[in-house]
Amino acid sequence: MTATLSAAAMPTFDPSTGERIADVPVAGPADVDGAVQAARRAAPGWARLDARERARLLKELAKRVRLASDALALADARNSGITLKVAKRDVGIGATRLEWMAEQSLELSGQAYPTAAGRLTYSVRAPFGVVAVIFPFNHPVMFALAKSAAPLAAGNTVVLKAPDQAPLAVLELAKIANEVLPAGVLTVVTGTGPVTGAALAGHPDVGKIAFTGSVRTGQAILEAAAPNIVPALLELGGKNAVVVFPDADLDLAVDGAVGGMNLGVCGQSCTSGSRLFLHADIREAFLERFLTKLAAVRVGRAIDEATEMGPLVSERQLAMVRSYVEGGRRDGARLIHGGDAPDDPALRGGWFIRPTVFDGVTPSMRIAQDEIFGPVLSVFTWRDEGEMLAAVNGLRLGLTASVWSRSLRAHDVAREIEAGYVYVNQHGGTALGVPFGGWKQSGIGVEHSRDTLYDFTRVKVVDARTA
Ligand code: NAD
Repeated sequence: MTATLSAAAMPTFDPSTGERIADVPVAGPADVDGAVQAARRAAPGWARLDARERARLLKELAKRVRLASDALALADARNSGITLKVAKRDVGIGATRLEWMAEQSLELSGQAYPTAAGRLTYSVRAPFGVVAVIFPFNHPVMFALAKSAAPLAAGNTVVLKAPDQAPLAVLELAKIANEVLPAGVLTVVTGTGPVTGAALAGHPDVGKIAFTGSVRTGQAILEAAAPNIVPALLELGGKNAVVVFPDADLDLAVDGAVGGMNLGVCGQSCTSGSRLFLHADIREAFLERFLTKLAAVRVGRAIDEATEMGPLVSERQLAMVRSYVEGGRRDGARLIHGGDAPDDPALRGGWFIRPTVFDGVTPSMRIAQDEIFGPVLSVFTWRDEGEMLAAVNGLRLGLTASVWSRSLRAHDVAREIEAGYVYVNQHGGTALGVPFGGWKQSGIGVEHSRDTLYDFTRVKVVDARTA
């Protein structure tokens, strides 16, 4: 981390208690410039390293992260409100993705072209130089590692902006990275989106931007990058459909729909299933089991081992989710679960809301259209497959979806759904090395795959006359 020139600081909280736990610097434009210049100085050396040595260092970083797993996970749970269980899993996923990308980078190569005798024409894959990495609060350590993996493995240096609401675990990670990687290879800055994020996204010496966040900020990132003609990988929002057919294994589908709400991050996940399309024939049986399962979810402080669902990340996020709950009621949807805070007096200071389900939702309602980024699910009932698919595809977002059926026809339905990642008989998670990315306004490009590694390089052709 660079020392900040700016005197500004911002508080950061424990969402389970509402307690202020630290203040962190708000890096201003001069601080961001300092970080980018340090990354720029480090870039040629990092790019020239033998690929095996670069991969070795990244794998060493992954190993050190695993050793610090408990502390990192605790810091994430305390500062972001994601459960300790999710936070621990996140550290492992981040480390695994870093290792995988380091291994892939050993095969990163250009191509030779069959031009003509007397001519040697080949391409090489070169890094961009400095990559800006910006992401939200819902998986701080996992995103910090997984989003930096491809840029670093491809030979770029990284300036990473920690999430505003939950920077503390990322700062711990930065200390580990500083001990393992050469100076300037991975630099962490803290601060707000409009100040720190904007200064980083618009910095003329940044060669590429890797962004995860909302559609609105994605648009701001593209605008900031435009004057510099800088490309951006965008992973944006989702309003994801869970489509249950009458021939589905209902127990599996119920478990999948509960799991797909991602309650371990209080629903604050881009992949969360938030629109449940139930076929009329199984609707009642499904809802009965589904609501029973939701009622059993253990809501509690994020750092408690037994907790299955913690708080929302901030008071602001809670106010926003509550305003959607009010809006849903006003628009005539029927609240059939949650919508309020848990009874437990021990949780009174935190930003909690119970899992929330609306029935009788129609596609024109706000709760049916906007990504709420909280534990709120809308139930739709369908009979006609064409009408159901039109509703599923009727939004500008297209990140994930799931189809629940015992029939191979599920694959035909998957083909019709306008989303970048469609699950069949499961919802959530991604397999290692498989591309993940959104369609439509849910993003540009894919993460976590070999394609991603290549996307963090640019092509140079060398065309030589040899005779
Ligand atoms: P956000 O867009 O408000 O913030 C994300 C990050 O962008 C933060 O670090 C923030 O500081 C920064 N930022 C904000 N304004 C900026 C600006 N003008 N310039 C540069 N950076 C700026 O998102 P959020 O509300 O914190 O997170 C929730 C959103 O993230 C949801 O829309 C969710 O779907 C999305 N998300 C997407 C994925 C995915 O992989 N597709 C994963 C997780 C979250």
